Amino acid sequence: MADHLAAAELSGSAPRISFVSLGCPKALVDSERIVTRLRAEGYELSRQHEGADLVIVNTCGFLDSAKAESLAAIGDALKENGKVIVTGCMGAEPEQIRDVHPGVLAVTGPQQYESVLEAVHSAVPPKHDPFLDLVPPQGVKLTPRHYAYLKISEGCSNRCTFCIIPKLRGDLVSRPASDVLREAERLVAAGVKELLVISQDTSAYGVDLKYASSPWKSRDGETREVRARFLDLARELGSLGAWVRMHYVYPYPHVDEVIALMADGVILPYLDIPFQHASPTVLKRMKRPAAQEKTLARVKAWREACPDLTLRSTFIVGFPGETEAEFQELIDFLDEAELDRVGCFKYEPVAGAPANDLGLAVPDEVKQERWDRFMATQQKVSARRLRRKVGTRQQVIIDSVGPTVAIGRSKADAPEIDGVVHVASRRPLRVGEIATVKIERADAYDLHGTAVGF
Ligand code: SF4
Repeated sequence: MADHLAAAELSGSAPRISFVSLGCPKALVDSERIVTRLRAEGYELSRQHEGADLVIVNTCGFLDSAKAESLAAIGDALKENGKVIVTGCMGAEPEQIRDVHPGVLAVTGPQQYESVLEAVHSAVPPKHDPFLDLVPPQGVKLTPRHYAYLKISEGCSNRCTFCIIPKLRGDLVSRPASDVLREAERLVAAGVKELLVISQDTSAYGVDLKYASSPWKSRDGETREVRARFLDLARELGSLGAWVRMHYVYPYPHVDEVIALMADGVILPYLDIPFQHASPTVLKRMKRPAAQEKTLARVKAWREACPDLTLRSTFIVGFPGETEAEFQELIDFLDEAELDRVGCFKYEPVAGAPANDLGLAVPDEVKQERWDRFMATQQKVSARRLRRKVGTRQQVIIDSVGPTVAIGRSKADAPEIDGVVHVASRRPLRVGEIATVKIERADAYDLHGTAVGF
């Protein structure tokens, strides 16, 4: 994902910054925080590198392909502008950047907001203007105004062997519940209709705080203590009147309690749960959290408790040492679990990941062949799950409107990663509006229907 941030509408001689945000939604939230601070200090945003006073590149260092993309983006910024500050995941290993691009002004690591700001101040000092310094209280959102990502923690205390995130971002640090709720409340008050809860491990929220309570004044004016616990936070977020969607949850037993909230309509019946594999021996080599859980039984119990539940997941094929029998366990799991949406990656030996030392690399052609089989299996399952929606009525949040058809998402579709609903309507729909849509047709990924209620 790459976003050139929208240019501010303000004019004048304030310093102008061009900002490139690469990587996952968590990196996007970091970008939003930096941009909010910059705007609060009176900096303007520029759509182009050319003519800006400075370029900031927020990098992604998760996979080698992401690193290459980040290095290319830095190269473009140097060519088109010349003054470049680099931040984000790749900033944890600055020599990787400086070896290729010695001309960058500064390199700071992930979540080092203060260091980025300091580097900006020394390259292009802020111009104080009390009018320019005003930013909306909800901050500057890079996502459309009707949905927003809500980051509840930083870092991760797991040690999955294919992953270098803990090395880049450190151990889990959760935000107090009151802090998260205040931000969520501000977002909803500013017009956000859908909150996308993100972190590296959402179900581990609050473990580092020992689930400590913090005081929060709810909308009914009552002050109460809210524990920094997944269930408690989900319940309070669900009381704010927006859709609440949970990303990056692991199948721990306490997730069952959150499914009950989904069944009651408190939060969306949607779980983004990166299983990564289904073979217990591979999961053990991956050192996955909750590797010992009986996942299939859990998925079935969740579906019984909440029949509308949408499950999205990601998997890795070709993990070191993956045998044909282990891969077949994964295919059998896909057939049985009937997941709605699935992403699949071929294992990539990310530099520094402990899994590379396991030896027994799976040859590239075997990885490709397994990936093809995986996708062919899942495509049938996903298409079947989608077809079940034909004839039903779904609530759809409108993301964009065209001359004849609007594009939206049902409760089963997260922005950018899932499918969409194409909506015909006899009256023009507005972006951010939630309409009731009769589903008439399904193709491989998307649904098509007509608005029947507004
Ligand atoms: S849970 Fe595992 S894959 Fe996810 S960030 Fe933590 S270590 Fe990486």
